[in-house]
Amino acid sequence: TVKKAGITGYGFYHNQMNQAFPDKMIMETHLRRAIELDELSLHYQPQVDLNNGTITSIEALLRWNNRKFGSVPPSEFISIAEENGLIHPIGAWVIDQACLQLQRWALQGIGNIRVAVNISPKQFSQPDFDRVVSSALEKYGVDASLLEIEITESAMSNMNTTLNMLKKLKKIGVKISVDDFGTGYSSLNYLRLFPIDILKIDQSFVREIQSECKDAAITKTIIHLAHSLGLEVVAEGVEELAQVSFLRKEHCQKGQGYFFSKPLPSREMEKKLLNIG
Ligand code: C2E
Ligand code: MG
Ligand code: MG
Ligand code: MG
Repeated sequence: TVKKAGITGYGFYHNQMNQAFPDKMIMETHLRRAIELDELSLHYQPQVDLNNGTITSIEALLRWNNRKFGSVPPSEFISIAEENGLIHPIGAWVIDQACLQLQRWALQGIGNIRVAVNISPKQFSQPDFDRVVSSALEKYGVDASLLEIEITESAMSNMNTTLNMLKKLKKIGVKISVDDFGTGYSSLNYLRLFPIDILKIDQSFVREIQSECKDAAITKTIIHLAHSLGLEVVAEGVEELAQVSFLRKEHCQKGQGYFFSKPLPSREMEKKLLNIG
């Protein structure tokens, strides 16, 4: 299979089985220095209110631009970071930068826009994860309700530890969303037990909502489920107007995807928010 340019070019995958052990170590060596070399950045993608087109939240998406490998997508390097523990400093850096960004936007009068960060299951299961969150909020004097923590169903495997962590996070005041909802191995039981605020419908369901009746049925069901539980609902991967029409008809509140905007560097996002872009 052909991988993203910049990685294949350096033989990151040295055979078709993706057994990349020695090359993975090279990548790991580079990733280890990514923070100090200032190679990481956050890009921002808006979540849009489908009724009036306003931006209500913004998802922060991690980017790694390495001198040797070029731009490496998160799908490539997050798993490496999870294996070697680098996800902890990197994940903390993401939260720190998101809070710094919230502080900057607040100072520019861009208020009441939430920033969502993706949290890896490894990071979420750290017993002091809540303190990583609260110290970043305090450091930048950011209102906790403007920070959203995105976790996937795979982070919720242990009922007790998940519930404890979610309770601590709710006490801090951040919002909790379930990313890629419907794709993980999960039970509806957790929706009943866990203090969740938002469901994000995975883009794999949204992609074919006009043509695949199963995808349409699942998407509708998730929207209705969210409404009956009093949760916000966001459709991911919205690329076409026909999808917007479908989602509006089904009373889905929010959408995110290339139809509205691709993920943008912070400056460009800022221009959009200030309406000068
Ligand atoms: P995600 O959290 O589900 O993020 C959505 C992904 O879909 C992003 O890919 C985004 O660029 C892409 N996307 C947005 N709109 C569209 C669309 O209309 N069509 C299509 N086809 N794709 C769209 P990205 O940025 O490559 O991130 C991939 C995944 O990597 C994320 O999925 C998330 O799970 C993970 N990730 C990204 N940043 C971080 C981070 O800071 N920490 C952790 N732990 N994971 C991250
Ligand atoms: Mg996400
Ligand atoms: Mg997602
Ligand atoms: Mg994801």
